[in-house]
Amino acid sequence: MIKPITIYGNPVLRKKCEDIEQSYPNIQEVIETMWQTLRHADGCGLAAPQINLPIKLFIMNSRDTYAYMSAKERKHFFAEEDCGIEETFINAEITAYSEEVWTAGEGCLSIPDLYEEVTRPWSVTIKYQDSEFKEQNRTYHGYTARIIQHEFEHTQGKLYIDRLSPLRKQLIKNKLMRIIKGNRRK
Ligand SMILES: [Zn+2]
Repeated sequence: MIKPITIYGNPVLRKKCEDIEQSYPNIQEVIETMWQTLRHADGCGLAAPQINLPIKLFIMNSRDTYAYMSAKERKHFFAEEDCGIEETFINAEITAYSEEVWTAGEGCLSIPDLYEEVTRPWSVTIKYQDSEFKEQNRTYHGYTARIIQHEFEHTQGKLYIDRLSPLRKQLIKNKLMRIIKGNRRK
């Protein structure tokens, strides 16, 4: 099933999401719905609040992006041993961030037609449960770590635009207001 994606202005995107247990109703169906919704939207990550569920669940795919990139781009965006991943993260907590940071363009399926440069740590260590609720503890780098940070922040009620400079926020204010108004008209 493909679900409509919640758009900026919807209060669910600002909720701090709750932990879930394996007994969460139809959890495997929810995960499958998220993958179908993500593929349909042609995105690289999706968090549960984006399909109106305030729970600590997100999915991401950096493998497709890796596949499209040139060798030169891969070198810039990916760590050497990383060819991209496709993974489900449940009850995730980022336990460490690298001091090294990098800047790259970012967008969000919930904030249409906006693309901004965001500075983030190059690596993160994250503790989570996978789609089978198996405990995982891994370190990811580069573009893979960037999507993970973006989606993880969705489960904390945060959006990438929160990370922009006050000047940049001022410059995109009208665009954001238009997104909110467009959403209300629906
Ligand atoms: Zn997003």
